[in-house]
Amino acid sequence: MTLTRTRSPVERVRVHISGAVQGVGFRPFIYRIAHELRLAGWVGNSSEGIVIELEGPRAAIESMCDRIHRERPSPAEIHSIQFEPAIATGERGFHIAPSLGGKPTALVQPDLATCPDCAREILDPANRRYRYPFTCCTACGPRFSIVAALPYDRANTTMARFEMCPACRAEYKDPADRRFHAQANACPACGPHIELWDAAGNVIASHEGALRLAARAIGEGRIVALKGLGGFQLLCDARNGDTLASLRHRKRREARPFAVMMPAIGDAARACLVSPEEARLLASPEAPIVLMRRAEGGFIHEAVAPGVPDVGVMLPTTPLHHLLMAELGFPIVATSGNQKDEPICTDERAALTRLAGMADLFLVHNRPILNPVDDSVARVVDGHVQLLRRARGFAPLPVGPLLNPPARRAVLAVGAQQKNTVALAAGEYIFISQHLGDLQSAETLDAFNHAIHHLENLFDAKHESLARDLHPDYLSSVHCLNSTAPVLGVQHHHAHVLAAMAEHDLAGPVLGVAWDGSGLGTDGTIWGGEFLRVDRRGFERLAWLRPFALIGGEAAVREPRRAALGLILELTNPERFEPDLLELFSARELSIFKKMAAGKLNSPFTSSAGRLFDGVAALAGLPPRVSYEGQAALALEAAVLGVNAPAYPFECVDAAIDWRPMIESVLDDRRAGATVAAISARFHATMIEMVIDVARRAGLDDVVLCGGCFQNRVLLEGAISRLRHEQFRPWWPRLVPPNDGGIALGQAAAALWSER
Ligand code: ZN
Ligand code: ZN
Ligand code: FE
Repeated sequence: MTLTRTRSPVERVRVHISGAVQGVGFRPFIYRIAHELRLAGWVGNSSEGIVIELEGPRAAIESMCDRIHRERPSPAEIHSIQFEPAIATGERGFHIAPSLGGKPTALVQPDLATCPDCAREILDPANRRYRYPFTCCTACGPRFSIVAALPYDRANTTMARFEMCPACRAEYKDPADRRFHAQANACPACGPHIELWDAAGNVIASHEGALRLAARAIGEGRIVALKGLGGFQLLCDARNGDTLASLRHRKRREARPFAVMMPAIGDAARACLVSPEEARLLASPEAPIVLMRRAEGGFIHEAVAPGVPDVGVMLPTTPLHHLLMAELGFPIVATSGNQKDEPICTDERAALTRLAGMADLFLVHNRPILNPVDDSVARVVDGHVQLLRRARGFAPLPVGPLLNPPARRAVLAVGAQQKNTVALAAGEYIFISQHLGDLQSAETLDAFNHAIHHLENLFDAKHESLARDLHPDYLSSVHCLNSTAPVLGVQHHHAHVLAAMAEHDLAGPVLGVAWDGSGLGTDGTIWGGEFLRVDRRGFERLAWLRPFALIGGEAAVREPRRAALGLILELTNPERFEPDLLELFSARELSIFKKMAAGKLNSPFTSSAGRLFDGVAALAGLPPRVSYEGQAALALEAAVLGVNAPAYPFECVDAAIDWRPMIESVLDDRRAGATVAAISARFHATMIEMVIDVARRAGLDDVVLCGGCFQNRVLLEGAISRLRHEQFRPWWPRLVPPNDGGIALGQAAAALWSER
């Protein structure tokens, strides 16, 4: 031991951590390490994230910073850590400081599914939270759905009305406890409780009795509306055909698939082929509905998801769901509690009216939901999660890398008309709202306005400019008319491509393959089968699918046979195919529709890939009419399974991809008695070859696959593998949906990049 060696001097630093660090047990985590390392100082929530002051030997401070990185709680996401020297004060001990003010740019955590620790406690008779439906901790439970303002403290949530009992308060204050500063902490003595109401709102039972009666009702074939984390769900037995028929009738939902909640992961494997990645996604804190390939066997009734390739499955997401599923032990349908075209219902009093006639019973609770959040829908593609509906578990986290430089002024992107979301670019982030729905009812417009105000208030960024779709009639576009802020119109398919570029931080140029139902083009026609060259300055329309007449306009969405007729009318000597058409139309209908097309009466030309899928479905022998958009394409995809086939011929004349040789071959095949499966396989292969053909001619390495058509897994996975085989780099949106739910992000990116 040398006498000259002095103790290392005491230093003090201030550490700013930004990212998703509030409401995930970050402060207790810091507190524990600081104690272990005998550092003095404090930790607090700031509006930007977390602030720490540390005082002690330099080595201990360094080791602390290292451990923050390595051991941070799993839901936390650190975006930046900044250090500032401070003056040592001789402070002793480490404590948690009250929240500090400042400009709120901290990230709000999404709602997270019940963690394994909490799930264990509610099934442990010795635990004081045994069978308590609102059990949560710093790793799980409500966040975004109950927060009114930042910082994320109990006073700023709808839990403020529940005074914690001494036992809960002790946990809340104990740095060693899992519930230290868990803002939604509650127990049977002090927290929210459940009640079971009849359709008139009379209380039938409460607490444990409500749970048991609700479970019994579901077992007996009744439909129960349950107030979940972010809104109401309608629940019923997924094995009972009569109940399902009644649910479809009451919800006016003829065929669109329902999601199923399984008691446990083992049950999911009885209904679907579950890969290890899919199992992880099901059990993740985000716990979305996961679309998976259907397995043989009748564990769930065919009427749950008729004629589609994938079934949507989820696991229990809240303690209430865990308790209910443990009672039931069988799969239930869990579908959003809303009227057709309305957003998810969040208030129990309003639910009595809005869900009147749909639910027999209402299982409700008294913790208000501030922000409606649907269940998210996701799947695994090429080993990566891809969201098809972004809501619970994900909203309102930002998407894409940090903006560098930060946004000069806040941009609000109002999204499209269908599957609307909005995006707010402020500071270093682009925040994306939860899925809001199709903007065609007053209720959805209310949800749209609420989401905008809430995002702007939460992140303290009033928009200074707007971005919208070129389509002037989208209600999101109409919304911009009321604003004095400058408005940027962004072409629909351009926005689809930009969304993926923003998420993956691609500067371009890329080849964007944007295929969907429809979007207004810059030439005033309806686009939908687009090949765009996109960089950060703009886009060029390189190629598109040869346009055809959409007879009756939007009416064609529900009648794939109209698209089929539009395709045939483009062929040379379409009269040849009269017999084929008479399988789809009466002679009278046919003559009317032909006149409409000839006179260009409500029969706009479109390059829509979505409608091309519809038309081929009808020509291949699938139903000529459907009850929801995309149903025909799903049926076509469901038919293709396991089939590998050569592509049909097609031609590329200048910029137009001429599909006419393909349609003639489809008709030939059909006449020769080919199965739907065989035609579908060849058709999918052809569409993929069209992508390859344009990619070769465009000479761009990066190819973005986006638009609603790429929800088709055969198309997306096939295109990915063919592109890789040809040495291209395929990209596709993952954290925002490929459908119009991703448009807002693309619009925001267009606005940001147009300023550079
Ligand atoms: Zn928990
Ligand atoms: Zn309590
Ligand atoms: Fe679209």
